[in-house]
Formats: sequence, structure tokens, C-alpha cells
Amino acid sequence: MRLSGKTAVITGAASGIGKETSLLFASEGANILAADMDEGNGQAVVEQIISQGGHAKFVRTNVSQAADCERMIAEAENAFGAVHVLFNNAGIMHSDDGDAQQTSEDIWDLTMDVNLKGVFLGCKFGIPAIRRAGGGSIINTASFVAVLGAATPQLAYTASKGGVLAMTRELAVIHARENIRVNSLCPGPLKTELLMKFLDTEAKKQRRLVHIPMGRFGLAEEMAKAALFLASDDSSYVTGADFMVDGGITSAYVTPE
Ligand code: NAD
Repeated sequence: MRLSGKTAVITGAASGIGKETSLLFASEGANILAADMDEGNGQAVVEQIISQGGHAKFVRTNVSQAADCERMIAEAENAFGAVHVLFNNAGIMHSDDGDAQQTSEDIWDLTMDVNLKGVFLGCKFGIPAIRRAGGGSIINTASFVAVLGAATPQLAYTASKGGVLAMTRELAVIHARENIRVNSLCPGPLKTELLMKFLDTEAKKQRRLVHIPMGRFGLAEEMAKAALFLASDDSSYVTGADFMVDGGITSAYVTPE
């Protein structure tokens, strides 16, 4: 088991990538502090882990609120004694996020608050805890859109994910000699609720698939496996990376027919 004796704090744990990662990390021996705004689905993930013999606790958390993030980390230390892994994964993609004309200031602020400030606050309170544990791994979920422009714009979302990449690199450098690794996970387009709600017609889905060399959407389970690599000692010499797990989309100029 690759995370035996470790404790992982996972935000956005009620759904998609966060849910699959919580289940996978627990099966690899980690104690899971599952944090999300969605209490019903978050509790269900925790119950599933416990029914399979694992250890997990849910804490209702809005990652854009400092007090919530502070409590999330404190609850993890209280319940399990330490924090070794922090997966800042919660994120939103608002349907009213468009180009510079369409996107309102409110949508911009909301997106930045959750996707970028949420990662900052997770690190603000998580890093001292990981330091107390003697080191560990932080994984921040960015996106392939942080490095590619799209004609179907989501300006606030794209900018927030670019911020995650830049912040992650700097954190990696600052904390490299404290045995704290910090990496970005950059998922490609996934078959999760978040994207499928945005690409809500078959035509929109096909328009996106044209650009993916592998010709399919990725799965949350595939992101969980990549997160496990970054969380575990398998990636002991990896820090500051933009880890693309994207079916080749960021390498493509022309895709196969
Ligand atoms: P999802 O919608 O299935 O899960 C996101 C979770 O975050 C939900 O459980 C939601 O309740 C939670 N959440 C939202 N706002 C929150 C807040 N303020 N505080 C705490 N929790 C909050 O989406 P997903 O696809 O699993 O996305 C996870 C991450 O992956 C996000 O950061 C997203 O931007 C990123 N991502 C997704 C894709 C994709 O195609 N789905 C691609 C690239 C990156």
C-alpha cells in the first residue's frame, strides 16, 4: 500500500476527481479528510470508505473561506494526528463564464474565490500542518486550459487555472528544502458532471473531442491514479511540475481522423 499511515486532506471530495481520489487513497492505506460544500454526497463517500474498512471523516468546507480551511486542517490533525497529503481539488466552472464582454464581475470573483483563492487558503493552513508532520505532498488541480486558449471561452476559469500553475511553481520552490513537494495536476477534458453540464449537447461534445488525440474524454479514476503518483513517494523527485494528464490534447496540432 502506497499511502499506509498517511493522512490526506482532499477538497471537492464529494464528486468526480475528488471522490475517486478519496476512494483510491483510502484503498492505499490513507486516512481521508473529505472536504466539500456538498454534505450529502461527501458523507456518502466517507461511509463508502468506512464500509470498506478504511478511515475517513467528512468536514463541510467552503474552500473560499479562510475559517473553513483552517477548520478543515485542524479536524484532520485532531482526527488522524497529522496531515501528509493535501489535494486542493475543489473547483467550479460557471455556465455564465464567457468572454470578457459576457463575464460579469460577480462570476469572475466567484470563480477566482473558489478556484484560486481556495488553493491559496488550503496551502496557507495546510503547509504548517505538513511541516509539523515532517513533510509531504501538495497537489493542486489546475487544467489543460491553463496552457491552451479556446475559442469557446471561459475567461475566469482559464485565468484561475493559470494562477494555480504559477502559484504552485512558486510554492514548490519556497518549500523544496522542507521536504514538501508541490505539483499541479492538469486534467484534460473529463467525463465528469462539471464538464458534461457545460458541454450539454452532443454537438458540443463532438466539437471538443475533435481536439483530443485519444478521441475520448478522460475519467475521474484516471486522474485519481495520477494524483496517487504525485501523493506517494513514487514521485519523490517531482516538484513544481505541471503534470498533464490529458489524452494528448496539449501536444496536438492536428489530431488523427
Ligand atoms: P465535480 O463538479 O464533479 O466536483 C467538484 C467538487 O467540488 C463538487 O463536489 C463540489 O461540491 C465541490 N465544490 C465546489 N465549490 C466548492 C467550494 N467552494 N468549497 C468546497 N467544495 C466545493 O468536478 P471535477 O471534474 O471532479 O473537478 C475537480 C477539479 O478538476 C476542479 O478543480 C476542476 O476545475 C478540475 N478540472 C476538471 C476537468 C473536467 O473536465 N471535469 C478538467 C480539468 C480540470
